[in-house]
Amino acid sequence: MTRIILILSVALLFTWPAWCGELVLLSPQVNNGEVAVLYWQGEPLSFGVVRFRDEVLYLYPDPEGAVTLLPVSLDVPAGDYPLVAALVDLQGRTTAAELTLHVDYKKRPKEELTLPERMVTPVQKDVIRINRESDLLNDKYELRSSRLWTVFERPVDDPVSSVFGKRRVMNGKPKSPHSGTDFRSPAGTPVRSISSGRVVLVSDLFYTGQTVVVDHGEGLLSVYAHLSKILVEENHELQAGDVLGKVGSTGRSTGAHLHLTVRLLGERIDPLALLAIFDDSLNP
Ligand SMILES: [Zn+2]
Repeated sequence: MTRIILILSVALLFTWPAWCGELVLLSPQVNNGEVAVLYWQGEPLSFGVVRFRDEVLYLYPDPEGAVTLLPVSLDVPAGDYPLVAALVDLQGRTTAAELTLHVDYKKRPKEELTLPERMVTPVQKDVIRINRESDLLNDKYELRSSRLWTVFERPVDDPVSSVFGKRRVMNGKPKSPHSGTDFRSPAGTPVRSISSGRVVLVSDLFYTGQTVVVDHGEGLLSVYAHLSKILVEENHELQAGDVLGKVGSTGRSTGAHLHLTVRLLGERIDPLALLAIFDDSLNP
């Protein structure tokens, strides 16, 4: 009898996990330019990190256990990527977990435009302003506040007029891909924050005109461009759906529309991909 108990105990030692839980991807496949959602479903963590390519990302507490949003930027080649997590529970016990994220290449549409040269190549005095504003925005994209995002929703109800990642050729010269999503909204349409967060920038910028930047925490920020009117101030706290301004055509814009950019840990991410993920899961 003692012998059987001993054998069973040894067998359990080798088969029983150190502590319970597992890593789960909301979707095991994403396209380049999209976001992957990784959950730890199990015991609460005191600390958790996951390595994706050369980046180490934190897992944040969530009702499920812990969660992180992984930016899969446009330049990530198609392939299978290991996600290797190191986890510590509330008693200080450590464990490791691993799974694979499959990335497919999504071909984006191409657009060739012919515009007056002054709209394509800025003059020297504008270059100084553009560089200063680019530094200002990059400082905001480096914010790593604690989590403020909850649910996500569209900023306007109007249809999309230009998708994220569109490859643009202007006057025969390739330019950087479209950094966000354009919505075909009439001037004056109220613009809503895509999730809860804090306003970290209200400014009139060369390219994006009257602009609002909202920090949703954990390195996730949203940018609302070309507004005709701004209805919030810096440090305002917003809930998902709160109106922050009105659609316009300020800055480098050829007509009224909303341009929405999403940055995750500094990377540009397709805003519609982020909204779609959470429409299907957290907002059934
Ligand atoms: Zn745009």
